[in-house]
Amino acid sequence: MKRSLAYKYCPQCGHLLTKKGPYYLECDNNHPYYVSPKPTVCVIIEKNQKVLIVKRGKEPHKGKWEFPGGFISPGDKIVSTAIRETKEELGVIIKVNGFVDSYVDIYPFKGVDYEVILFYLTAEIIDGELTPSEEVTEFKFVEKRILPDIDFGFEADKRAADGLFLH
Ligand SMILES: [Zn+2]
Repeated sequence: MKRSLAYKYCPQCGHLLTKKGPYYLECDNNHPYYVSPKPTVCVIIEKNQKVLIVKRGKEPHKGKWEFPGGFISPGDKIVSTAIRETKEELGVIIKVNGFVDSYVDIYPFKGVDYEVILFYLTAEIIDGELTPSEEVTEFKFVEKRILPDIDFGFEADKRAADGLFLH
């Protein structure tokens, strides 16, 4: 797998990039390129002491369980991303209650391993009915004590689940 940190060409002019620092690249026209992870938001939706997990409808990790969420779009923020993504994936409106933790993970897609940083938030549903979508084919509320047995696709979700299990 090709790591996303290993960009070869300048996004400004297409010339070859040269490594100038651990996470800093430059082309021969001195265009800078900063290597950084893609920020992502994950939502732990709680209801009656249980948490919502969803089954992925798309690659990577299609068919595996995860916490709902997605990439932060340009101009978007952490809480607004959580609200937007859960509406898109599940058709519900949430209220974000808190920040749990953040983890670093790899998002493998079409031959490139993207480094992502995931911010985990807790939330509750305040409006709407949970509805499957193209991105989410199944969903269920599970007790925290069974979270370590769930077949999560992403390592970060496993770590977040283990953290919830302990609390
Ligand atoms: Zn350039």
